[in-house]
Amino acid sequence: MTIITLAQLSADLDAGKVSSTELTQEYLQRIDASEHNAFISVDQELALTRAKDADAKRANGESSPLLGVPIAQKDIFCIDGTQTTCGSKILENFIAPYTATVVSNMHDHGVVSLGKTNMDEFAMGSSNETSHYGNVVNPWSSKGATLVPGGSSGGSAAAVSAQLAPAATGTDTGGSIRQPAAFCNLTGIKPSYGRCSRYGMIAFASSLDQAGPMTHTAEDAAMLLNTMVGFDSKDSTSLDVPAEDYTTQLNDSIEGLNIGLPKEFFGEGLKPEIATLIERAVKEYESLGANIKEVSLPNSHLALPSYYVIAPAEASSNLSRFDGVRYGYRTEEYTDLVDMYTKTRSEGFGDEVKRRIMIGAYALSSGYYDAYYSKAQKLRRLIANDFNDVFKECDVLMGPTTPSTAFSAGSNSDDPVAMYLNDIYTIPANLAGLPAASIQAGFTSAGLPIGLHIIAPYLQESKLLNVAHQYQKVTDWHTLSAPGASAHNVGEKA
Ligand code: GLN
Repeated sequence: MTIITLAQLSADLDAGKVSSTELTQEYLQRIDASEHNAFISVDQELALTRAKDADAKRANGESSPLLGVPIAQKDIFCIDGTQTTCGSKILENFIAPYTATVVSNMHDHGVVSLGKTNMDEFAMGSSNETSHYGNVVNPWSSKGATLVPGGSSGGSAAAVSAQLAPAATGTDTGGSIRQPAAFCNLTGIKPSYGRCSRYGMIAFASSLDQAGPMTHTAEDAAMLLNTMVGFDSKDSTSLDVPAEDYTTQLNDSIEGLNIGLPKEFFGEGLKPEIATLIERAVKEYESLGANIKEVSLPNSHLALPSYYVIAPAEASSNLSRFDGVRYGYRTEEYTDLVDMYTKTRSEGFGDEVKRRIMIGAYALSSGYYDAYYSKAQKLRRLIANDFNDVFKECDVLMGPTTPSTAFSAGSNSDDPVAMYLNDIYTIPANLAGLPAASIQAGFTSAGLPIGLHIIAPYLQESKLLNVAHQYQKVTDWHTLSAPGASAHNVGEKA
């Protein structure tokens, strides 16, 4: 079964080969028939109303590349009138009263939202196992071994990989777009911090959170990103920079491109088979005319410990709003206000979220603030400075996205540090606010996909996508579809 790209669907809609309503119906049927648990909620009626609307617009001569193309939305994005859980029991009954800017931007471009995808609770996790709504099955699982799709955007990754949607949104605070993209053989982009508005995207760690596309190809990622970005006065950290068309530089030659390989990304902990596959991908770039050079990010070993102070600190503050008073779950029986708060939060949050709130509150407490939070902020600056230094001599950096491939459900659940190590290569880009991608770069002998990680200088998403696209033009890893992908063809009746 071949993959279906946004570019192809856009061309088919343009040529009148298929309507948005037909496409939307097809994907809704696939979602209905699938057993990956990739979605938390699907509003069929709403999706079909939008599809009809897109068809009417096309009939009226309106055109926009993604007008009428259905995609899946991570359940971290508020959509007016729609259940928005963020993977948590505490928001099980929450119907959003407004729409996230990223989603309303996509809707303005005519994108049809199919439904809300499963995710780790409040985006905290690397396997989707912290979701209140159950585990998600990685479509690359083989008989007998159920593998995780990665996290926290695990439902989005599984949905695209299983072809239940041609693309999806994700969010990335420490790796949550790129790690599941690597585990499910997808292209995932974390844009520069500030590029996509955070308004209406439920906050985890506000100085790190960033929305981005999860697709089969870099070209699709460029197309979807075009509809997501833009300045938003409702997010004080949104960047007021002019809109760009990310598809225009995709075909630029990368001859003479200077690629840096940070030696810290190839050290202890990396599975040798992944190292070999990454070396092969780098060789491919060399044959395209790129220059390869080893570089060093000497403070990158401090990224994981800094992140696990800063992210929980911000989360402990952000999550204080879930108190049972204004929205979401409220405990049934309580004696007074404090008892209500305590029981609501004890019953409403899962263990990983509670762990982060406790770590964060501790790191911010008056006696420990300097020792933990201030120190982590200083390390963050050193990590960002390392990138500034290497980008004086390199156009992009490359390495593996993750130290291992998708693992079986339950295998890391008792060891939070083992779980946290999944993001050892992805977190530095979040701390420095840089754009980064994971692209498909081959398979291990066990048949599991691996991701090539590419990091670009600030605001150079076009360069990042260009570098990714050039590789996809000469390789076909991204075209290989998961064994668990939906068996139907678009347009074929179920
Ligand atoms: N896995 C990391 C964490 O658990 C990153 C999550 C994310 O990027 N949202 O915090």
